[in-house]
Amino acid sequence: MTLPDHIRVLERGWLSSNNIVFLDPDCPTVVDTGYGTHAEQTLALVNEALQGQPLRRILNTHLHSDHAGGNAILQAHHDCETWIPPGLQEAVTQWDESRLSYAATGQACARFRHDRVMQPGQTLDIAGDDWLVLSAAGHDNDMLMLWCERSGILISADALWENGFGVIFPELMGESGFAEQQATLDTIAQLSPRLVIPGHGAPFTDVKAALASAHSRIRWLADNPRRNTDNAIKALLAFKLLAARQMTVADVAALLRNAAAMLDVVREHYPVDPDAMAQVAAEQMVKLGVARRDGDVLISQL
Ligand SMILES: [Zn+2]
Repeated sequence: MTLPDHIRVLERGWLSSNNIVFLDPDCPTVVDTGYGTHAEQTLALVNEALQGQPLRRILNTHLHSDHAGGNAILQAHHDCETWIPPGLQEAVTQWDESRLSYAATGQACARFRHDRVMQPGQTLDIAGDDWLVLSAAGHDNDMLMLWCERSGILISADALWENGFGVIFPELMGESGFAEQQATLDTIAQLSPRLVIPGHGAPFTDVKAALASAHSRIRWLADNPRRNTDNAIKALLAFKLLAARQMTVADVAALLRNAAAMLDVVREHYPVDPDAMAQVAAEQMVKLGVARRDGDVLISQL
């Protein structure tokens, strides 16, 4: 199965989420808007995909910086409504960066406004199709995914990628997330989509294989939560390095110190001095092929 013509997936890599553009004559829509440092590129790509139509609606599956970082620039250039998941509307109105996860992760997101809140169970008309809004708790317990029964297409956000899913952030804050992620995967299995458009990476059709590996991964993480914390630290560092292109070992230590100050679990799992831990983390980045090391400087290899 291939994507219908009116759905354009702008695949953006790991720093920016995919942007899914719907060529809807009544209400041109984009789902998720990428990371802030790519905002100009997001605007250009979305405009190109819209073929001269004005953008009327932004839908955010969740508000992580790599999914909502282009909201502000799109709002500035288009007269569009922005719909967000429930849970953080007040934090958005007040622009509370700690509740919005940007402070703990050390990530930037330009301030945007929201107009409407989507609710699980609600149906949205996008380009003449009904899209059901579903909870996709786990990676972020407020996250939503979008399901079109008629076409069998699921927009899965960071709940299911072709290979894995996003870090289970609630567990880092002492909240439940593993069970929620399991339930989200079960929901996806029940829907049995013909095609999944993930938050990162290309759309894929072998959904059974993706679900099988995701199911075994969530069990592996839940068996030993330290694995989730390790994974989160690696993902945060790789993200930061990808955004900054290079950072010093002292920058790594600062990031770890910041994360430890905000996230109880990080503090619990890594009682060692952030400076010592930064050296270990730097070596890991090199070993994983994410970075090359030149003295005290790490240079992104991605
Ligand atoms: Zn995310």
